[in-house]
Amino acid sequence: MDKRQQSLLGGYLNELCLTTAGKRYADIAQKAQKDSWGFETYLLEVLREESEARKNRRVARLLRQSGLPLEKKLETFDLKRLPNKVRQQLNVLLEGRFLDHKENILIFGNPGSGKTHLVCAIGQELIRQDKRVYFSTCALLLQELLAAKRDLKLPRLFKKLNSFQALIIDDIGYVQQNKEEMEVLFTLLAQRYERGSVMITSNLPFSKWEQIFKDPMMTAAAIDRIVHHSVILELNIASYRMNAAKDRKVRERG
Ligand code: ADP
Ligand code: MG
Repeated sequence: MDKRQQSLLGGYLNELCLTTAGKRYADIAQKAQKDSWGFETYLLEVLREESEARKNRRVARLLRQSGLPLEKKLETFDLKRLPNKVRQQLNVLLEGRFLDHKENILIFGNPGSGKTHLVCAIGQELIRQDKRVYFSTCALLLQELLAAKRDLKLPRLFKKLNSFQALIIDDIGYVQQNKEEMEVLFTLLAQRYERGSVMITSNLPFSKWEQIFKDPMMTAAAIDRIVHHSVILELNIASYRMNAAKDRKVRERG
């Protein structure tokens, strides 16, 4: 290929946004020559690299936008600690179909049982399947909601949150919230009902959710909407932190 053709090719690849192909086509051509590939095999390899690089960039962008803590992933989560039933439920959830049905996921368990890590791991796996996920602790989400309400920008925030197929609200009910905060959280859940999935973790069983929503009617209405299409994971297991601390002690003594 002469200089002029090279520059034309570079121009076309740029125009078509095939940046990886632009960087790699010459090296791959050398390999093709060395291993006597046919034309189609060469084309296949160039497009494979382009497609893979694009997917990686897309996943990286979705992960960044999600606000998920990256270290809480499936690879670092010990699945053996999960009750059998939850492990089975998890396999189904990881297929991601619940998002299409706008189903909600509720994860209950004691502090340290792995709720946050598990919900984040699911979130990351969904992103790898090209789903849009947004993660927030309940406390931060409330701040965001209240600020938007004050600035009369609540509809805009709801629209942003609804652009995510999964909204993770971590640790609902952990801190005592005031009535205004709970009302705005209720509004969020009510407007999202059957529009998009919510994934909620909580230390509090439903029987104690009146502590969260204060008002019994609002509590009942919130639970009703969340539970209507939902999968409930019960992590009735000992605290991972506590077990790790105990193991450390045993090791230190022994
Ligand atoms: P919770 O949200 O239920 O309070 P976390 O998910 O924050 O619990 O877990 C507490 C700590 O223990 C975290 O550092 C988490 O990474 C770790 N952890 C919990 N369960 C597991 C598990 N099954 N495998 C690996 N690490 C775990
Ligand atoms: Mg947690």
